[in-house]
Amino acid sequence: MSDAREVIIIGSGPAGLTAAIYTARANLAPLVLEGEPSSTSDQPGGQLMLTTDVENYPGFPEGVMGPELMQNFRTQAARFGAEIETVKVSKVDLSSRPYGVWVGDPDAAEPTHRAESIIVATGAQSLMLGLENESRLMGYGVSTCATCDGFFFRDQEIAVVGGGDSALEEANFLTRFASKVTIIHRRDELRASKIMQDRARANDKIEFLWDSQVVDVLGDDKVSGAVIEHTKTGERSELAISGLFVAIGHRPNTDIFKGQLEMQDNGYLVAEPDSTRTTVEGVFVCGDVQDDYYRQAITAAGSGCMAAIDAERWLEALADG
Ligand code: NAP
Repeated sequence: MSDAREVIIIGSGPAGLTAAIYTARANLAPLVLEGEPSSTSDQPGGQLMLTTDVENYPGFPEGVMGPELMQNFRTQAARFGAEIETVKVSKVDLSSRPYGVWVGDPDAAEPTHRAESIIVATGAQSLMLGLENESRLMGYGVSTCATCDGFFFRDQEIAVVGGGDSALEEANFLTRFASKVTIIHRRDELRASKIMQDRARANDKIEFLWDSQVVDVLGDDKVSGAVIEHTKTGERSELAISGLFVAIGHRPNTDIFKGQLEMQDNGYLVAEPDSTRTTVEGVFVCGDVQDDYYRQAITAAGSGCMAAIDAERWLEALADG
């Protein structure tokens, strides 16, 4: 066999680092290519790095800060010998084994690393409005996850941006806690399915702001309001809210796998049912990059564990010939 590694893990959110813990403890000496900070919504550690209090991750009865939780994952993986590099993968070649993984110049003739098996855990990003104060107040009133953060807005007035199924679903869910939820949509017609629209319109706690775009988020150390611009008249107004949920879609981080791994129409990778196997032998996927439905840290971690076990058994079968 060449000097190829047994397993390379691409990505370092809950899925990638759980896969690292399991493969390291199985003596597979995993190399984790954890990514590089490139924007607020794309950095090592994944989406929990953009969160403050996490109260739904089991094992932390008092809650834990998102970045601290990810640091714990990382330390635990390193403790068992996982090697972690803060680099971004620029290209992969999954056409023959050992698979090639490039860091830096994607046109380099030789890959930076080779591995018999690869665990893809590159995650997904929430699409954001792109406002300076939106990223500054992320985790301090700005959120992309109603399931995670709704609880913090009991009896408060908050808003959701977007007009798709996600926005309406989040708005409906948030009415369990908030006293009022304003849906801010840039058009006068929703994209969401009829049933979701009916449900939202029938909810007394939900109000709609049509033809409206958030152009600024207000607040010093936590959200106190948003500046809204009417998309037709350009008129500006302020909305007093303590929470702003951005629900304008997600994008899986799958560019480097285009044409090599099976994808759904929305770009999410496809795993075999009840498994993390892909159509390429020895390549496994886990976490949000293959999950456009649950999108939770705990489900990502669970699937990272599955990917590690799948990879371990596959390597074992390979060694047995
Ligand atoms: P989506 O369907 O793409 O909707 C995104 C919404 O955000 C659209 O209303 C869009 O406005 C708005 N938007 C996009 N960029 C914006 C910006 N820069 N500023 C302001 N608004 C912006 O995304 P999604 O709601 O996350 O849904 C994704 C997929 O998952 C869909 O197929 C959906 O049906 C599915 N889903 C299903 C369920 C369910 O069935 N329970 C729940 C969630 C999601 P425009 O309408 O003007 O483009």
